[in-house]
Amino acid sequence: MSAPRMKVTVLGSGTSTGVPIIGCRCPVCTSADPRDARLRCGFHVEAAGFGLQIDVSPDFRAQALRFAIPRVDALAVTHCHADHVLGLDDIRRFNTLQDSPIPVYARPAELRRIRRIFGYIFHPSAGARRAHLYIARLEPRPFGREPVRIGPFLVRALAIPHGPAKATAIEVALGARRAVFASDCSHVSPALAAMLRGADLAFLDGLRDRPHAAHLTLERSAAALRAARCRRARLIHIGHDVPHAEIARRYGPAVLPTFDGEAFEL
Ligand SMILES: [Zn+2]
Ligand SMILES: [Zn+2]
Ligand SMILES: [Zn+2]
Repeated sequence: MSAPRMKVTVLGSGTSTGVPIIGCRCPVCTSADPRDARLRCGFHVEAAGFGLQIDVSPDFRAQALRFAIPRVDALAVTHCHADHVLGLDDIRRFNTLQDSPIPVYARPAELRRIRRIFGYIFHPSAGARRAHLYIARLEPRPFGREPVRIGPFLVRALAIPHGPAKATAIEVALGARRAVFASDCSHVSPALAAMLRGADLAFLDGLRDRPHAAHLTLERSAAALRAARCRRARLIHIGHDVPHAEIARRYGPAVLPTFDGEAFEL
C-alpha cells in the first residue's frame, strides 16, 4: 500500500495588513494580477482525511469558504499576533460539523495569550454555559520540546526570532516527507536553518526589500531558503512593495513567492 500523501494549501500569503492595503493606490495594491491580492497568512494541511489548520487569520472564514476546507481536526497556532489568531471564533462551525471539540496546539506562552484574548471561549461564564450560547469548544495543548503526534502527522514546534517577540516554526512530517512553516521570522537561527535543511516544502517570511525589525527581507529569506536546499521553497508574509511577477523573476525557480490558493502534494 502506498503511503498517504500530504496536501498543503496556502490560505493567505500576505503581511498583517493584507494586500491591497486599505486606502492604498500603489501599483501592487491596484494590480490586475490576482497573485498580488494577499489575504493574511494561514495554511491547511490534509492527509488521510485529517485536516490540520495552521493559524486562523482574520480572513479565516473567507478562506474556509474560498478553498472549501472540509474539516479542522486540529489547530496549530504560530504566535498570538492579530493576523494569525483573530479568526479563532470561526472554528466553532467545525465543532458543529464534526460534533466534537478541537485541540489547539501552541507554545505555552502563546497559549496563555490566546486564552486571555478569547476569555469568553476558554473561561465561559456559568450564565453563558446555562444559556447554551454558541461558543467554540477548544482544548489547549502546549507544544513541548518533543515532536507530537497530531492525527497522521508528526509535528515539531520551534521558537524563532520575530523582532522583539517570538513566533513558531512548525514542521509537519508524514513518513519521510516534511513541510516547514515559518511565516513570521526576523532572523534565521541555526536551529531554524537545520529545520529548513532538505525540507520537501518550506515557507519563510519575505516581507519586502527594506529592512524591518520583525520580518526578513526578500533577499535574506531567499538566501536562507537557497542555502537550505529544499525541494520546493516559497516566500510568504509578503507586503505591497514588490509585485508577485517581479519577485518570481528574481531568485530563480528554486525560490518563488507563494500566492493565495497555491497547493502542493507531497
Ligand atoms: Zn504575521
Ligand atoms: Zn499599496
Ligand atoms: Zn507576527
